[in-house]
Amino acid sequence: MHALTASSLLRVWERGAWQSSVVQALSLLAEAIPKTAVSDLARLPIGRRDALLLALREQLFGSRVQTVVVCPQCQDSLDLVFEVDQIRVPLKSETQEECVCDVDDYQVTFRLPTSEDLLMVVHEPDAAAAKQLLLERCLLRVVHHGEATTELPSPLAEPVIAQMAEVDPQGDVELAVTCAACGYQWQVLFDIASFVWREIGAWAKRLLGEVHLLASAYGWAEDDILRMTAWRRQCYLDMVQG
Ligand SMILES: [Zn+2]
Repeated sequence: MHALTASSLLRVWERGAWQSSVVQALSLLAEAIPKTAVSDLARLPIGRRDALLLALREQLFGSRVQTVVVCPQCQDSLDLVFEVDQIRVPLKSETQEECVCDVDDYQVTFRLPTSEDLLMVVHEPDAAAAKQLLLERCLLRVVHHGEATTELPSPLAEPVIAQMAEVDPQGDVELAVTCAACGYQWQVLFDIASFVWREIGAWAKRLLGEVHLLASAYGWAEDDILRMTAWRRQCYLDMVQG
């Protein structure tokens, strides 16, 4: 994975500001892994994509993750702190192209959802319809009592989706949280794609503020300021801010 410069990361952030989270994640990975075609990145199962995003996040901001969650019972805010390694699932050496599961009398063959699939359903306003569409895209074969059928009965959709999550656990990271104030316990979904994008947004705004201060004080060009190491920029900022 390629180390991103401040100006390349800033460019990805600016380009992605009004894009969907799926496109943002792909743009980040395309910048960090220029040798892999974007179309190939888009065809990675979500868990494989998220493993790459975790590695990128670690490279950009370190291994400690800090986020805030709100308790659904007492509305108290809780700081959630963990290491990237705690949510990293060991990667299987071979990628499974097809997975088979038995649900009731049905044998269902599916593939894992990819960014390409998510892009096809991202504009669907109804969440249930989007989920159904995603499932239909990923179903390869449905066999009932030895006979191939075209449809999966709707009550079987949830168990099949649960199987998909089980096969690709990195794409569905849930954290067990206990509220310190009221003791309530629940599961929080941790989506690395939107999380790292929020972090990049905060970083970019901080960096633009630094550029603003240094450009105002010294008249330097944005490019020159961005090419400095963060440490050197900070030395000048300390002098400017006295
Ligand atoms: Zn609580």
